[in-house]
Amino acid sequence: MGVLEGRFEESVMTTTLEQAINWARESSLWPMTFGLACCAIEMMATGASRYDIDRFGAGAFRATPRQADLMIVAGTVNHKMASRVQRLYHQMPDPKFVIAMGACTCGGGPYYKYGYNVVKGVDLVVPVDVYVPGCPPRPEALLEGLMRVQDKVRAMHELTRGQPIGELIPKRTGG
Ligand code: SF4
Repeated sequence: MGVLEGRFEESVMTTTLEQAINWARESSLWPMTFGLACCAIEMMATGASRYDIDRFGAGAFRATPRQADLMIVAGTVNHKMASRVQRLYHQMPDPKFVIAMGACTCGGGPYYKYGYNVVKGVDLVVPVDVYVPGCPPRPEALLEGLMRVQDKVRAMHELTRGQPIGELIPKRTGG
C-alpha cells in the first residue's frame, strides 16, 4: 500500500462522463466546407498553415453535412441559397453548431440597404451560436469564434439533453 500512496494522486484524474464527452467533442469539431463569398477566403486562410485551425482540432473540413457538426457560414447568403443553407443544416447530426462569419452573414453587411436579393442575417434561416463580425473578419477572429463554440460545448449537458440537472430532479410536493 505504501508504494501506491502518492502515485494514485499523480496518475489518476477523476471526471464525469459528461465532461469527458464534452472534452472529446470540443476537441474534434468538424466544420462543413461552406464558403459562399469573399469571407470564405479568410476561412480557407484559417485552415492553412499560418493560422492552423487544426491546433484546435477543427481542421477536418467535411464535404458532406452528415459528417459535420459545425457550419461556418462564410459569405453572403442570398434568398436563392437560403433554403439550401437550411436543408444542409437539417442534414447535420445533433448536436450541431453554427458560426455566422462576416457582416453579410451576421446581418446583410454592405447589402443591408439595397441588396434586395440578400438575406439580412443567416439567423433568419438557421439558429446561430456565434457571430463573427467583420468585412471580412481576420482568421484570428474566426479562431476566437471557434473558441466560443468550444465554450458552449464545454457547458453542454449532453447526458441530460441540454437541461440543467436541477430541472430533471422531480420537485417534492406537499408534506
Ligand atoms: Fe464579402 Fe464583406 Fe460580405 Fe464577407 S462580409 S462576404 S468580405 S462583402
